[in-house]
Amino acid sequence: MADNSDILVAFDLDDTLYKECEYVRSGYRYVARRLARELRVPAEGLLEIVESDNVGGRHPFDVLFEYTDGNVSVERMVGMYREHVPFITLPDVSADCLVRLASAGCTLALITDGRHTGQWNKIRALAIERYIDGRLISVSADIGADKTLPLPWERMQELTPGCTRRWYIGDNPLKDFHHPNLMGWNTVMLRDDGRNIKTQHVDLPESYRARFEIDSLGELPPLVTG
Ligand SMILES: [Mg+2]
Repeated sequence: MADNSDILVAFDLDDTLYKECEYVRSGYRYVARRLARELRVPAEGLLEIVESDNVGGRHPFDVLFEYTDGNVSVERMVGMYREHVPFITLPDVSADCLVRLASAGCTLALITDGRHTGQWNKIRALAIERYIDGRLISVSADIGADKTLPLPWERMQELTPGCTRRWYIGDNPLKDFHHPNLMGWNTVMLRDDGRNIKTQHVDLPESYRARFEIDSLGELPPLVTG
């Protein structure tokens, strides 16, 4: 077997290892249920609001605010949403990809942007630490820099000095590939399957584009270790 111990594969989290719309759905449902409990009303009506695709272009929390006669502020709902422990699972294709890369001898890492509690609640719900060493999980709020800056990748390089072949896998051309490209990493964009929160159709300079594009994480292990 080829020696892959010099390969680092770092992943983005949202819309790369799982679909962020699942988190959003989980958060809305949590807020609806909690409001129902607090206000002692049946949950069905509130769940219907947050599950409806047709609330006239308004944010579901604004509709919930009216529905509950202004008893719970939108600000509090946002707080509940951000703190909630999500009901989300790691797709099989992601788990398989991580297992295959780890078995091939690659070092795995996670570089994600977001709030401490929100991102770690996702990481725990998805059981990411089963596959990636907690020391190589980097959350922007914890390190004080997001992916618009070089720091998250510089820091990961320092944490993995034995890795000279480095990869970053993400979905967002606005911030996922520019810095790793400039630093000599290989970059891979997982193409939007129609469910992504952020568009990939943005007009950006070449340095913002991933070197490779894939439609499924199943394509990643042979690309990285081939
Ligand atoms: Mg993402």
